[in-house]
Amino acid sequence: MRTGENMKADPVKACHAQLEPFRGTESPYRKLCPTCREGALLVRRDQGSMMLTNVDRCTHCGQVVVYSDKFINGEPVSHADEDGS
Ligand SMILES: [Zn+2]
Repeated sequence: MRTGENMKADPVKACHAQLEPFRGTESPYRKLCPTCREGALLVRRDQGSMMLTNVDRCTHCGQVVVYSDKFINGEPVSHADEDGS
């Protein structure tokens, strides 16, 4: 799969806790992209509140992933962007 191929694809809903961990990482946040299975999902923080955000993007294919989890690694997840699309 080419880099950025899913940049304009529809968002995919996923449960962070059920995704596979990204290869070679010890971070509990990094997960393997469920779409291309090559890139990583890093989990981002809102720069204002520093809360984890539920909208993520694959580092390889650009697929947008929306997490349905309320907590990731014990931290609350902001679902403020859920009504966006
Ligand atoms: Zn991907």
